[in-house]
Amino acid sequence: MLEQIANELENLKKEATSAIEAAGSTAELAELDIKYLGRKGSFAAYMSRMKDLSNEERPSFGKIVNEAKTAVSTALSDRRIALLVAEDTAKLKKDRIDVTLPGRFASVGSIHPTSAALKEISDIFLRLGFTIEEGPDVEDEWHNFDALNIPDTHPARDVQDTFFVKSPKEVAESGNKILMRTHTSPVQARTMEKQQPPIRFIAPGRVYRNERIDASHYTIFHQIEGLYVDKNVTFAQLKGTLMNFAKIYYGPQASIRLRPGFFPFTEPSAEVDITCTVCGGKGCSVCKGTGWVEVLGAGMVHPNVFKAAGYTDPDITGYAFGLGVERLAILKYRIDDIRLFYDNDIRFLEQFI
Ligand SMILES: [Zn+2]
Repeated sequence: MLEQIANELENLKKEATSAIEAAGSTAELAELDIKYLGRKGSFAAYMSRMKDLSNEERPSFGKIVNEAKTAVSTALSDRRIALLVAEDTAKLKKDRIDVTLPGRFASVGSIHPTSAALKEISDIFLRLGFTIEEGPDVEDEWHNFDALNIPDTHPARDVQDTFFVKSPKEVAESGNKILMRTHTSPVQARTMEKQQPPIRFIAPGRVYRNERIDASHYTIFHQIEGLYVDKNVTFAQLKGTLMNFAKIYYGPQASIRLRPGFFPFTEPSAEVDITCTVCGGKGCSVCKGTGWVEVLGAGMVHPNVFKAAGYTDPDITGYAFGLGVERLAILKYRIDDIRLFYDNDIRFLEQFI
């Protein structure tokens, strides 16, 4: 009897181990585990035959069954490990990353050339002892024109040149119309209203003109206003400051030239030219053969501007200047069209990274 069971068990063990060897997945293996070793599996069924055996035979029977079970169990766990490794390898192969492929680069933004020029120019004047003041883009007529000695009849006040903003009724009735500031000069008037001399500041900002857009004109551009008011400020100091600025911004070879000019808010006034950076002063198409390019206006503050600000001390004098930021940047970087600053063409902007 025992011998017969031992033969059957040997066959069962062979059948089980060869089925385990042939299993192609861990899922298939789990089914075999239940089939042979489960609570209602093949080996469990053998245990119920224990009762047919004599007391002497039972220990040997238990030993034979356990050995066969252990052999099947070992075969199962060996096969399970082999299958897990194979499955893992297959998954890794499928999800394989080719580290030699070029990556996708996130494009990095850059400082806009107008912002870069504003900062660079402002930094130079900060080093020369100026502070920074600000004023509103939406301005009133008084600060934009009247306080700066610009007469009622001045052509700049025309709608052809200025963007007027629809004003609330009471503002319109007061005669002080609202507009987009046409220059940064109103910051002079606003600062002098609230501060006594000495005053020395620059006012960088956006200005608006009702212009026909072309290569050298745009409806929006940036200016930097400068004002220095104190006792006995001289024209020579103005010239020295502008000369210093030109040499720092364009390099030591740069020079400036002052020509008589006219602005309502300064007297005397000067148009300021800077050495043409394209030809180095020899003469070219950019400077129309003169070797000089006009970049800013300047002068001594007009007494009427002091009067409008409420300054009465006769020893108080001052100088003011206003420069076009895009204009200076155009000359420095040899850009031939002001519209490029506003087109947001990435090919242009990327050149300033
Ligand atoms: Zn030139």
